[in-house]
Amino acid sequence: MNCPYCSKEMARGYIHNSKQPVQWMPNGTKPSMFAFSPADNGIIISNKFSLFKMGGYIAEAYYCDACHIVIAKIES
Ligand SMILES: [Zn+2]
Repeated sequence: MNCPYCSKEMARGYIHNSKQPVQWMPNGTKPSMFAFSPADNGIIISNKFSLFKMGGYIAEAYYCDACHIVIAKIES
């Protein structure tokens, strides 16, 4: 994936969260009080859950070192 700001190739990686899906939440939203559950207003980033390998959720994301930005695709 190329960075939308500088057009350079972005580094492929992931965001990890151990007990809840990786998600974006608008200001004022609190995380769910339950494990394995997203917040009511959370925008879930495409997650792969692995109980044994990583011990939680991982969401594929891309990083641009020049612009200091991370981009991740949400679940559709
Ligand atoms: Zn960039």
